[in-house]
Amino acid sequence: MNALDLKSLAPTAGSRTLMVVSPHLDDAVISCGATIWTAVRQGWAVVVATVCTEAADDEGDGAAALFNGADGDVHRGMAERRREDRAALAGLGCTPVHLGYADDSFRPLRPEQRKDDYGRFVDPSRPLDVGLCQDIACALTLLMDAVSPTLVLAPLAVGDHIDHRRTAAAVGLVRIAGLRIGWFEDLPYALDSSEGSDSRRPRGASRLRIELTSESLSRKSRAIQTYSSQARFLHSGNHDAWFERLETHSEEIGGGEPSEVIWIL
Ligand SMILES: [Zn+2]
Repeated sequence: MNALDLKSLAPTAGSRTLMVVSPHLDDAVISCGATIWTAVRQGWAVVVATVCTEAADDEGDGAAALFNGADGDVHRGMAERRREDRAALAGLGCTPVHLGYADDSFRPLRPEQRKDDYGRFVDPSRPLDVGLCQDIACALTLLMDAVSPTLVLAPLAVGDHIDHRRTAAAVGLVRIAGLRIGWFEDLPYALDSSEGSDSRRPRGASRLRIELTSESLSRKSRAIQTYSSQARFLHSGNHDAWFERLETHSEEIGGGEPSEVIWIL
């Protein structure tokens, strides 16, 4: 397993554009923040396109306020999350794009579901909603036409979160000749996954390791902390212990060397 030199993917300076497609406002940074920083340092222009960035008019029977609300105000809550995203990505030297979809918490609950039931978001048997995936794929196609990325990174959907599965499916529906696609493992979901992210990689994809440096780790840590509205969901305020788990995982997936891994076709 060799450490990835991102330059090898686009040898000519000025031609390196990386687009990371993030389901929610924080996934790209938590999952591959060090890769983003490494790419920026190597001269890549990096765009992080986040799918679920807006509140819907229908507030999902109270679930949306629980997961996105600022004192129950979902519009203010999502505006705060977008502000956090702009600040976090500015700290990593990359450009945010917010695609404007509402996340799954805005969907109406079925009668048997409780609004605080997190399990429905990570139920792998739930249907994706093909129309929504096609809609997201159209938005991504238009963005990719404008940005002309050298490489697009999509989530593997480790953990089966429905918004991550929809995002992965939408990227899979994009049809642009010559487009190079890779995948990142979804963190923190991969910390609790028993299957291992390698088992999810698309057939034939190469495993590329991005070695973490103290600088890229500290940039990533700072960026993650910028999403302060999400702290209660990520680590209940105990950032240091949680970040140690991330670091331990990075050593495991890197075969002893702290790393992030992407899989590229
Ligand atoms: Zn997410």
